[in-house]
Amino acid sequence: MCGIIGCFSQNNCYEKLFSALRKLEYRGYDSAGIAMLAEGEGGGKISVRKKKGGAEGLAGAPMAGETGIGHTRWATHGAPSDANAHPHVAGKFALVHNGIVENYSRLKAELAAAGEVFSSETDSEVIVKLIARAYAGDFFAAVSSACARLSGSYAIAVLCEDFPGEIVCARYKSPLVAGAGGGALYVCSDIPTLCGEAEYICTAADGEFIRICGGEIHFLDAAGREIPKTFSRVPPESRAQEKGRGSYMEREIAEIPRALADTLAGLKKTDFARCARVLRGAKRAFAVACGTAYHAALAFKDAAESDCGIPVLCHTSSEFRYRAPLVGEGDLVVAVSQSGETADTLEAARLAKGRGAYVLAVTNVAQSSLASLAHFTVAMRAGPEIAVAATKSYNCQLLCLYYIAAQMHFYKFTRMPPWFSSLFELPGAARAAFDCFPTMRSLAEALTDKRSMYFLGRDADVVTAMEGALKVKEIAYIFAEGYAAGELKHGTLALVEEGFPVLAVSTLSRLTQKTENALQEVKSRGAFTILLSQSAEVLAESCAACKCRLPDVCERLMPVVAVIPLQYFACRMCLERGYNPDKPRNLAKSVTVE
Ligand code: GLU
Repeated sequence: MCGIIGCFSQNNCYEKLFSALRKLEYRGYDSAGIAMLAEGEGGGKISVRKKKGGAEGLAGAPMAGETGIGHTRWATHGAPSDANAHPHVAGKFALVHNGIVENYSRLKAELAAAGEVFSSETDSEVIVKLIARAYAGDFFAAVSSACARLSGSYAIAVLCEDFPGEIVCARYKSPLVAGAGGGALYVCSDIPTLCGEAEYICTAADGEFIRICGGEIHFLDAAGREIPKTFSRVPPESRAQEKGRGSYMEREIAEIPRALADTLAGLKKTDFARCARVLRGAKRAFAVACGTAYHAALAFKDAAESDCGIPVLCHTSSEFRYRAPLVGEGDLVVAVSQSGETADTLEAARLAKGRGAYVLAVTNVAQSSLASLAHFTVAMRAGPEIAVAATKSYNCQLLCLYYIAAQMHFYKFTRMPPWFSSLFELPGAARAAFDCFPTMRSLAEALTDKRSMYFLGRDADVVTAMEGALKVKEIAYIFAEGYAAGELKHGTLALVEEGFPVLAVSTLSRLTQKTENALQEVKSRGAFTILLSQSAEVLAESCAACKCRLPDVCERLMPVVAVIPLQYFACRMCLERGYNPDKPRNLAKSVTVE
């Protein structure tokens, strides 16, 4: 999603700003821009460079200035265009904004009536106009009073020509973190971007302001009162990602065994006794998440219900927060988000917490907003995930959620579930799943021209089917549906015709025959059938035209490995079709707006 960056450096900050902006690109964006403030006679001078497209479009002669702000935009209001790109300028101010100003049309009408002329279609431009109009010599007060008029979400960074060396920032429901290191001070919407740039970081809470001035970082409330804060070291999360070949997505799939091993090592050290009372006592649980993480939540439901006897209600976060769910005291709410900044999941967790529920977060970013909001955090250690389509983080989410289900089992029945020890086989099994790749590669080549396909499964395999379908939609732009095989005859079958690809995942011995029946039914209607299973016998007896043998782990944990060939298949499909798997159109990483 959009990113903002601000930088102050005694020397020209352009190189640092530009390099951080390039790192922000992974989040998905459609335009980029930079504003620099250089000290001059009688104040400073702001210069702006902004353009539709990527940050590389901004390259050119370095711009001069000790302070600068940058933006990668993911358009919400107004098409991606040079004019709509940030920074936006009014009077002596330049601003970058991440989020949505929900009352912007009312504010825009008011400002237009007062004679303001707008040069963009964005909601963001109203903020800088409000700041310029509120300004009477006090930079911070102008920003604070403008923010008081906004509803919606924002993280902003603002420059003012009267205050060279100063950046004023504000946060409300969009992430914002300050960092220091390497002779520079930063504000940024994202911690991973600051890895390798800053040594120390500190996150702003909603309603807080950050002011960089006099070579220092200050956290302030709306009235300008100092808020005491403690900086922590930037997590050592390597930038190993930057090495290696191929797309980030291919590299992230290759990292799954390592990510699982690291996550397991972290889980072993996690003190679940701190939430034992909740895990033992909860009569029911909720799981809230979006997209891929929602599929992980569905797998959790399966394990917690079957093995612990605890009903789990899964909701996509955006639905949960607007439908007044019956959540309250005594409920456990598991919130899953790779970035820990997913706007809808954060709000769902906040709502649940407000109603007295116990919030347990599963996230890949230990210092994220979700982690600070939750009562208890279970950390995935997938390492930075750059490709927009989630892969290794999904496998790690599943691992964490199964681990949590195992802990629930332990605290309820004073013993671990029978599959607990198999969790430690997952890194090896994940590596063994790579043996499926040649088959998946040939399959992708054979299906390159298809426009749609089905993924089928039953019980936990439905979750794998849904995730496989989502990956293909996200990056290969093929319409795909992940479906419960038993539902075929209730509608889905109508679309099956000669050559239509139907891929089935069949890992549960009590259901393999049922899934085979579904394959027979689609095959009779001309479908091109594909079967994935860990059982040689099931594969041998199947009518499928293409067969792929999965590695064997206990059935409960099969979703962690069964999805790997599907992740790879989607990636190959995407490459075969000539697209970039890392930057799917219209999508963004870390979905910080609702
Ligand atoms: N709503 C603003 C716009 O459309 C900011 C979007 C963003 O967060 O990138 O320009």
